[in-house]
Amino acid sequence: MARRRFLWHLLALAWLAMGASSALASRGFSAAERRILAEIGRQRAAGLRPALVVDLDNTLTDSRHRTRAAARIFGHRVRGARALRGLRLEQIRYDARQTAQRAGLDERTTARFERFWLRYFWHPSSMRHDKPVRRTVDLVRAAKAAGAEVFYLSGRTSELRVASLRQLWRFRLPDARPDRLLTKATEAVNTSRFKRGQVLRLRRLGFHLSAFISDAPSDIAAVQDLVPCALVDFPVGPSRRPAIDVSTLLLSTSSATPGR
Ligand SMILES: [Mg+2]
Repeated sequence: MARRRFLWHLLALAWLAMGASSALASRGFSAAERRILAEIGRQRAAGLRPALVVDLDNTLTDSRHRTRAAARIFGHRVRGARALRGLRLEQIRYDARQTAQRAGLDERTTARFERFWLRYFWHPSSMRHDKPVRRTVDLVRAAKAAGAEVFYLSGRTSELRVASLRQLWRFRLPDARPDRLLTKATEAVNTSRFKRGQVLRLRRLGFHLSAFISDAPSDIAAVQDLVPCALVDFPVGPSRRPAIDVSTLLLSTSSATPGR
């Protein structure tokens, strides 16, 4: 009986291993993505506790949809902001100011939209607009299959924790539970400093950090001396971009944002 159970376990393990490797092959990961996954496999085989640390906004979630929803509402409410009503996703920029300026709004209306956007964009109920960045989501799932623990490290504040967890569940991401979602206490906490502190904490807890993935050069600059980094090449980004280490991997998001 015990022998038969052992054989079943062996078969199940082989099936899982085959599933993971064929999934890798069929999804067509880039060289940079395969490097991260191979590193996780090596660390796991060496008996370490590999962990992948991933940002949320514009890394796993396409937050342009949130800005587009804000633009649509504001465009219907405010005279002089009609141009914001029917923006395509490609016309949405990194933030309210960039989006309004591109749509040709005057300075006064731009400033008003900025104030509206700040409240709307960071409201828990607005998280429902985000769509998954398919390519990064696939990478995180493959990393889990390869043996990594996954931590979601975000500059979002604690009042967005429930909405953020719901997003992780909606996108069917692995390790989507409260202890794996790391958020700032308040807006006053500096995001780069917070992320560096959390990376150091995970190392102290005994995790072997395989990679840190983010769309923000400021995030990468803050932790690149502690963990191998991968910069997500998202279509929009902050205007201020600090220099980052040349060893940083580049992850493309092309064909990653379904839904227009
Ligand atoms: Mg981000």
